[in-house]
Amino acid sequence: MARLVMKFGGTSVADIERIRNVARHVKREADAGHDVAVVVSAMSGTTDRLVQWCRETSVLHDAREYDTVVASGEQITSGLLAIALQAIGVVARSWQGWQLPILTSDAHASARILEVNGDELIKRFRERREVAVISGFQGLHRETGRVTTLGRGGSDTSAVAVAAAIRADRCDIYTDVDGVYTTDPRVVPRAHRLERIAFEEMLELASLGAKVLHVRSVELGMVRRVPILVRSSFVSPDDIDPHAAPPGTLICDEEDIVEQQVVTGIAFSKDEAQISIRNVQDKPGVAANIFGPLADANINVDMIVQNVSADGATTDLTFTVPAADFERAKSTIANARAQIGYARLDGATEVTKVSVIGVGMRSHAGVAAKAFRALADRGINIRAITTSEIKFSLLIDAVYTELAVRTLHSLYGLDKP
Ligand code: ASP
Ligand code: MG
Repeated sequence: MARLVMKFGGTSVADIERIRNVARHVKREADAGHDVAVVVSAMSGTTDRLVQWCRETSVLHDAREYDTVVASGEQITSGLLAIALQAIGVVARSWQGWQLPILTSDAHASARILEVNGDELIKRFRERREVAVISGFQGLHRETGRVTTLGRGGSDTSAVAVAAAIRADRCDIYTDVDGVYTTDPRVVPRAHRLERIAFEEMLELASLGAKVLHVRSVELGMVRRVPILVRSSFVSPDDIDPHAAPPGTLICDEEDIVEQQVVTGIAFSKDEAQISIRNVQDKPGVAANIFGPLADANINVDMIVQNVSADGATTDLTFTVPAADFERAKSTIANARAQIGYARLDGATEVTKVSVIGVGMRSHAGVAAKAFRALADRGINIRAITTSEIKFSLLIDAVYTELAVRTLHSLYGLDKP
């Protein structure tokens, strides 16, 4: 017998038929004797509509009232799922964030979970085998007593936080894909589903834009040591053998991965832009003069490459920003030209950042060097490189994205046989 959290996203609860399907998944686990807490998102499209209503009412609206509005989507699904469960004979009760409570910071619209009280849920597991159905995404700020929300996609984080609070053995995230892949299967048909991936690797993937999981949920799983299983909600509950290992990708501690590969996955992002500042004066304080104003303008700088100056006087500096911030970043630099002192500003938006991730890189040398050679053999020029302990990223021309990702995918032995 185990204790499980089952989380269902918007597409999994998109209509009443899908909610009934979810109820049958829940019944399967409850019938197997497990303690079950379910965390649900709003029906797909609902949160978008609620957000839109706030904007339509007033472009500049109070974040506390925004939270009042957008938290309502999850309230509907938790109630409906509890009804669907009761209808098939499962003892169930819904819980809103404020009822448990799930306490958060007061950063309305992007609150952080501080504490979850799971005592009442555990008591009810013991006393009456009651399934808890919890609204994801929402919480309560204790001092003001107001409802908060966690930021878009936040119900994954609710689920992991609840799992930690009730000391669950596992947090199952049911979604519209059947797991985490070595790379996007739409780009590389030979991508395969990973059986396991380490928290740190998943954190990199999620931060790099793999949209499977909310970044904070992975952080929380890592800190609180909650194994997270990403699995499909589109498999019929009747087709799952309750005695077999559940299908999906397990996000777990590195030590729990027996056959660790050097490279686990490849991510890529086309939402990048490159800015190069030519002939910058090579003297102390220049980097501060460039990146200070960008930080003040809330622009996230990612890769940074600075050449070693040849003449000792000037150098070139290249960095990337999100494509959406490209124009703003250029004008921010242009406005600071007098302080920075440079000859020319160049930029490119048709670029892609390709990242190769694997905890095995810590103990293997030459992993990135192999990539440079392979890409050179295909005539792909690398515009910028950054490396960290378990990842390296390359900035290339966007037209070569697919070729580069496929090349690296084969190179590191990730192609499915
Ligand atoms: N319903 C919220 C959203 O659409 C939270 C979630 O689904 O994770 O962002
Ligand atoms: Mg989601």
